[in-house]
Amino acid sequence: MKQKINIAIDGYSSCGKSTIAKAVAKELNYVYIDTGAMYRAMALYALQHGFIHANGTVDTAGLEKALDLVLINFKYNFDLGFIETFLNGQNVEKEIRSLQVSNHVSKISDVKAVRVKLVKLQKRMAESGGVVMDGRDIGTVVLPNAELKFFMTADSKVRAQRRYEELKSMGVETTLEEVLNNVNSRDEYDTTRANDPLKRADDAVVIDNTHLTIEEQFQFVMSQVMKKIGSLEHIS
Ligand code: C5P
Repeated sequence: MKQKINIAIDGYSSCGKSTIAKAVAKELNYVYIDTGAMYRAMALYALQHGFIHANGTVDTAGLEKALDLVLINFKYNFDLGFIETFLNGQNVEKEIRSLQVSNHVSKISDVKAVRVKLVKLQKRMAESGGVVMDGRDIGTVVLPNAELKFFMTADSKVRAQRRYEELKSMGVETTLEEVLNNVNSRDEYDTTRANDPLKRADDAVVIDNTHLTIEEQFQFVMSQVMKKIGSLEHIS
């Protein structure tokens, strides 16, 4: 039986991290963990409970006090064949992908206590290995000892176009301009925030997928995974 490693995939907004992470997890029979969904669920909670003011600012103290009441977990939907996000027992998979949540999530993910809570949960989920986790701080903060790390990037216009097509296919009404603005502003916020900003881990393999197909990315990642597992088995 092959050794189960942890794989961290970080990168900019909408550059296809989850598509590759899901495919790799499926191929290896590993667990896929979408940490962005956890921050999105937290942002949805904040919106639902009035912790985001009309002017867009966050009631940080109020949210921090309520954190113990927030339960976020994932369940595998056998009919659909993918994992769905639950917030306090409610399936919120669709709501967390809305543009309203996308527009507020970066502010919520900059609240220190939110990060402390979610990072702790994410570390626990990966304790036994066999996890493919995607996000912004996985290789640097959540799983600094992950056996394999990737950092994904692509031209922002290409990313916005892909995300726009995806939202359209989900029936979400939006414009390419709106999506591009969201992608750019989240990148700006995520790379410059005070707490655990998005940055490439020194030992991460960079994948610029501007001109790569999903299949090409998948094959590249799998070749790296097989090489890594092979080298670890050789040592043990
Ligand atoms: O991955 P996704 O685009 O769904 O993430 C939504 C937002 O959650 C990001 O823009 C970022 O603000 C936040 N996030 C984070 N740390 C992670 C994953 C996501 O701060 N590990």
